[in-house]
Amino acid sequence: MSWRASVLTLFPEMFPGPLGISLAGKALANNIWSLEASDIRASAIDRHRTVDDSPSGGGPGMVMRADILAKAIDAASPKDDPRPRLLMSPRGMPLTQKRVRELSSGPGVVIVCGRFEGVDERIIAARRLEEISVGDYVLSGGEIGAFVFLDACVRLLPGVMGHAASGLDESFSDGLLEYPQYTRPQEFEGVPVPEVLTSGDHAKVAAWRRSEAQKLTAVRRPDLPGPKGGKKA
Ligand code: SAH
Repeated sequence: MSWRASVLTLFPEMFPGPLGISLAGKALANNIWSLEASDIRASAIDRHRTVDDSPSGGGPGMVMRADILAKAIDAASPKDDPRPRLLMSPRGMPLTQKRVRELSSGPGVVIVCGRFEGVDERIIAARRLEEISVGDYVLSGGEIGAFVFLDACVRLLPGVMGHAASGLDESFSDGLLEYPQYTRPQEFEGVPVPEVLTSGDHAKVAAWRRSEAQKLTAVRRPDLPGPKGGKKA
């Protein structure tokens, strides 16, 4: 069975959007994964199809109602649905490649996209939503976060990337940023491709890449864990 994503949003017309082209789009057409975007507004219970209300205790903006969200979530994801349920949220755990790997190797996900000031806190526990953030900045809605998350997951699904190996060597996969890449021409505006890369000596190339990755990581992202157990020579 293919990896299944259900997205709950006030703007289902945004999907598949960027996920309908290139790698993710081809995989979607080939049924490697499936995407269903459902309109939270369809679960509204009044004539005006209201989904939000003013915050209890006062303050600016509007908050998405827990009862409407519960109805929308239950319609998209019944109680026995094995898929984890995520809530896009700037308060969530920052998304990592590790979590992407874990979630992409499961049955799929259900994603709730917030809007306005966010959602009524009670829905998070009531439907066991895992809050996920795509970075320390505030977006106007969860949809773009959902694109980021889904793009990262889908490219790891079996059969999506051209070279299965290309997922193993890239940034974050071993606690390091990726080494610098070069291609033709051999000389660009007076700057040659580093000599070692054209030497044909695979061990030397690997050692150079390793040391460049380590240098870059130390300067830019000293917070990253670095290589685990020195698995690559
Ligand atoms: N008032 C909230 C921000 C609401 S932004 C606060 O200060 O925390 C509206 C919606 O956009 C959120 O409910 C969430 O679904 C989405 N969103 C905003 N920033 C995000 C981020 N960094 N990562 C994931 N989702 C985000």
